[in-house]
Amino acid sequence: MAKQHSMDEQYVKHILEMLQLAPSGAFLANTDGNYFFVNEEWERISGLSFDQSLGMGWTNIIVAEDLPRVKAIIQDAIEHPGEGAIDYEYRIQHQQGVRYCRSHGRMVMDEHRQPLYIIGYIQDVTEERQHTFRLQELTASLERLTKLMNESEGLSKTGGWEYDLDTREVFWSPQCGRIMVNDMAEDFVPDFKHLQAICAEQEHARDLENCARRAIEEHEPYDFVFRHVMGKWLRVIGVPVVKDGKVAKLQGALMDITDRKEDELALARITDALIRSKQLLEISQEISQTGGWELNPQTREVFWTPQTYAIYGMPADYVPTLDDSLSYFSESDAEYILTTLDQAIREQRTFILELRTVTPGNEKKWVRVIGVPLVKDGQVTLVQGAIMDITAKKEDELELIKAKNTAEAAALAKTEFLSVMSHEIRTPLNGIIGTTTLLQLNHTPEQKEEIDNLSFSANHLLQLINDILDLHKIESGNLALRPTEVSLFELARDVTNQFRSLAELKHIRLESVVHTNVPQKIMGDPVRLNQILNNLVSNAVKYTDQGAVTITIRALSVTDKRIEIHFSVKDTGIGIPPEYHETIFESFKQVQQASSRKHAGTGLGLAITKKLIELHNGSITLKSDIGEGTEFSFNLKFDQPMYNHKPAEPSSSLVAAYRKKLGSLKVLFVEDNAVNAAVGKRHLEYFGITGDFAVDAEEALELLKHNSYHMAFVDLHMPGMDGYALSEALRNEYPDVYIVIFTADILNDVRVRLAKLNIFDIMSKPFKLEDMLNTLLRVMQVKSIGLTP
Ligand code: ADP
Repeated sequence: MAKQHSMDEQYVKHILEMLQLAPSGAFLANTDGNYFFVNEEWERISGLSFDQSLGMGWTNIIVAEDLPRVKAIIQDAIEHPGEGAIDYEYRIQHQQGVRYCRSHGRMVMDEHRQPLYIIGYIQDVTEERQHTFRLQELTASLERLTKLMNESEGLSKTGGWEYDLDTREVFWSPQCGRIMVNDMAEDFVPDFKHLQAICAEQEHARDLENCARRAIEEHEPYDFVFRHVMGKWLRVIGVPVVKDGKVAKLQGALMDITDRKEDELALARITDALIRSKQLLEISQEISQTGGWELNPQTREVFWTPQTYAIYGMPADYVPTLDDSLSYFSESDAEYILTTLDQAIREQRTFILELRTVTPGNEKKWVRVIGVPLVKDGQVTLVQGAIMDITAKKEDELELIKAKNTAEAAALAKTEFLSVMSHEIRTPLNGIIGTTTLLQLNHTPEQKEEIDNLSFSANHLLQLINDILDLHKIESGNLALRPTEVSLFELARDVTNQFRSLAELKHIRLESVVHTNVPQKIMGDPVRLNQILNNLVSNAVKYTDQGAVTITIRALSVTDKRIEIHFSVKDTGIGIPPEYHETIFESFKQVQQASSRKHAGTGLGLAITKKLIELHNGSITLKSDIGEGTEFSFNLKFDQPMYNHKPAEPSSSLVAAYRKKLGSLKVLFVEDNAVNAAVGKRHLEYFGITGDFAVDAEEALELLKHNSYHMAFVDLHMPGMDGYALSEALRNEYPDVYIVIFTADILNDVRVRLAKLNIFDIMSKPFKLEDMLNTLLRVMQVKSIGLTP
């Protein structure tokens, strides 16, 4: 037993020594877990000394969190002995920091299978654990990364792909699959060919294949955009993966860039349109010679379009400024431009200016400048505008104004000339006709024929002058109709009477037929109607040697207000050849036929007649055959007469009735022409008026100072103070004196000028006794003067 004991002791001692040498930490504990032995390795691993670890000392270094678990395991092993190994891991607080330990123990039983003690080993597994942790972390972050990649793939519309050149296998990421084939089925096996198959355009497929080939052969990465069969735009990036100097794989990304591509295409379209409209603008500016400009009122920055550079002749690299631009104008114009600009900005208004400019190259031009303020948030941010070279137009305009002025001056000169001429001719004619009239009243029987000849010639001359003046008046639009109550019966009778003796002389009948449907009176201009019929009848009688001349007047329609009358003058004379039917209405045009040479005439009659009819808004018609005769006809419209009409014109029998009867009228006669003054004096004397005579305005004013007059006859053209000035003086100083102007000027201008002085009584020279009587009676009526018994 002792030997046994000694053997045993020996044995235990050896075992313990052996344990001391073991490369693992070893311990022995009783069944309660109290340590009673640890080897050196245990001490090293735990950092505890032999003494410190005894009993429950070993648990002192276990990390607090792990301790309950360790205790529970040991407790469990004690309670259920014989159930095998006691394995546990725990952390200890070592001087070098936390370390991981793995313990592997076992309950040792006695021969009665009663727990004797616990033996065990520990290992420092810190390194191993750290590896595991790192691996776990790596896996976790890999998972996170993959998740992130998948998410970002979805967001970025980017997928990944790979092609193994050895196995010819193709890998597509889910997103790549979605982009390629919309929804990639689980069992779908992608093929390299798919990439080409989904190209919308053959050309793209070919190029893509070439890219891949180049990547493989020349190790070149590629980046290629193509259109998908479904209309999407895709971008594929391919990178060769080189292994041992050879391309083993192609890897890459696939992106759906439809949105970006469409934006790009839209942008391209807009840019295209912009470029086109800019080109158009430039072309139109060039064609229309219009430049554009822009001014920033805040910064005073100026921008010009190319055409503006062209207008000013400036090189393209010149930078325009406001001050420079203004210096191309005169100082006052520049100031005007600035004021206009200010106003346009203040009132937010467009402006147009036409100015003369001198370009830096010293070229003189006219420009039209248009400016439009651009308003943003109620503020003018820019003034934009156009500038046009209007030099040619302006020059034409100025030329035109010059031509117009010249034409106007010429017309004025013509009118002036006619006015003066008519005055100059009519004044002596007044003397001749006046004297003849007086001679006709008082002559010896043997003088009668000579006086009649004199009267005829004078009247013919008067007719000619009147014709020329009439034509001029009508042509210059100065002749206005003066409608009054007229009897067409009387008109026809007067005209017939006028030509009766001539017709009798030629042995032709002269008839007038006025239909009974013609109203007794119409509102017409007797002078002009007479002139029309006179001209036509005169011609008819002149160009008819046998047969008859017939005047026909009949009403076409009669209403309350209007009357339409048909007039016809028909003859059985020589007729007018058809080729002359148009031209005879022109001034001074006559038919050159042998038989007509004997007929004297001015060639103005028909021209005036046609124009007078047109003045009545009518038109003349001619029907004529050679040898058969001629008919001139026309329709005119008149107003029905109103009741407040003027009294009838006095007839020659009336003149006689007032002989020596108007003596109570006090008359001042102002006339510088001695013959006319003498004629006036005799006319007045015929009516019993003595009258005072002045040769000029000064003398007239002198007479007015000492005498009072009912009326004054005032000649317009006088040396010194003329008729207009005298009339004005009379109006102001002697308003009671009734003014009657007598003049040879019967042009409208004269009437207008006199009307401005409130003078409407005009007697045109030469005047007849009837005219004189008419005027005198009117004054007597106004002044309520009675007749001399
Ligand atoms: P004139 O003063 O020469 O008569 P008109 O203008 O009155 O001028 O007429 C122009 C021409 O028309 C006349 O010269 C004449 O040849 C022709 N003519 C006018 N009226 C007639 C007519 N009734 N019969 C024939 N010829 C006429």
